[in-house]
Amino acid sequence: MNYNELIFDWNTEGAPELPPGRPYLLDDESLRDGLQSPSVRDPSIGEKIEILHLMAELGIDSVNLGLPGAGPRALADVERLAREIVSSKLTIRPNCAARTVEADIKPIAEVSDKVGIAIEAATFLGSSPIRRYAEDWTVDFLLRTTEHAVNYARGLGLPVMYVTEDTTRCDRDTVKRLYSTALQCGADAVVVCDTVGHATPAGVRNLVRFVREEIIKPSGRKVRLDWHGHRDRGLAVANSLAAFEAGADQVHGCALGIGERVGNTPLDLVLVNLKLAGAIDRDLSRLKDYCEKIAHATGVTIPPNYPVVGRDAFRTATGVHAAAVIKAYRKGELRLANSVYSGVPSHFFGLDQIIEIGPMSGKSNVIYWLEKRGLEPTDERVERIFAAAKQADRLLTEEEILTLCGAPARVGPR
Ligand SMILES: [Zn+2]
Repeated sequence: MNYNELIFDWNTEGAPELPPGRPYLLDDESLRDGLQSPSVRDPSIGEKIEILHLMAELGIDSVNLGLPGAGPRALADVERLAREIVSSKLTIRPNCAARTVEADIKPIAEVSDKVGIAIEAATFLGSSPIRRYAEDWTVDFLLRTTEHAVNYARGLGLPVMYVTEDTTRCDRDTVKRLYSTALQCGADAVVVCDTVGHATPAGVRNLVRFVREEIIKPSGRKVRLDWHGHRDRGLAVANSLAAFEAGADQVHGCALGIGERVGNTPLDLVLVNLKLAGAIDRDLSRLKDYCEKIAHATGVTIPPNYPVVGRDAFRTATGVHAAAVIKAYRKGELRLANSVYSGVPSHFFGLDQIIEIGPMSGKSNVIYWLEKRGLEPTDERVERIFAAAKQADRLLTEEEILTLCGAPARVGPR
């Protein structure tokens, strides 16, 4: 079946926004910015190690291991995770957060030396006029601090990711002066941050293009350009795709969008969108495991209506929807069944469509439900279940349906 004929794709009219064949790097902040969420608990080191392996399995390129300057527990976890990357030969590259002060940068170099792996130092500094005003900082002070921190980290042999907080509300001149100074001192990457969740996709494109065209290009250096976004306006995924489109090399995010306030860019959904856009082609069948692991380890609940990995993402009880899905299944085409009523084909992520029975259902829901479990859909059974469903104010549970069938309480896998 030619799906290009069945699905007219307005998304790809004109030039592709995310052409394949160029890198779309991802930096996982779940274990650093993610843990700054007021509602999470800090996972045990065992859980962090499992999460690290899942990140690597999803092909996530780099991971922020934490802020070792924060205290002994943070330092010990960072070291253990860095060791795990080395001993398990994971391809994911580590970085650590640090304020632009020696006390935060030095422990990163110590872990790096001890463990024997390069760790990028993500040194961050406030930048916007509003922050400068609140903190009584002058731009000259920020420039001197930048120079000192980048030189110090480079002197310790660390690759440097220079991070300006609140870049999306910072004036052109200051952005240019800060990044130019960091680049002159040898920074390997710059990170444009939407620390407070202010940006819209148009703003992201303007800022990322400005940094790429007017700061990085004239420097003549090959420097990675990162985007770090937050969810305050609900635009984080769109902003991250806009950043890639405008030429960012790497996007930061957290599983399920956990993080400060309402959180960071949901990295799982960036992966979903890159896959659907054809920008990346990789096995994402462990995506749900990754999200569920993080949810469990941090004590966060995944909302039922969360895209792709939420309980209801591929679940329907509505008669019209289910009927179309069932007819598609009967044609023997999984892709058809998974695409006819969903913009996200579930099998791309190792997941299945689920047909339920409730007050909005039709008889085809009932017949399909019974067949799927190897139960004969006799007219009498179908009538009885259908009538009960129409009386209900919610979906029928598996147990309720089986009781109505007079079938044994447990049947085969669904
Ligand atoms: Zn952040």
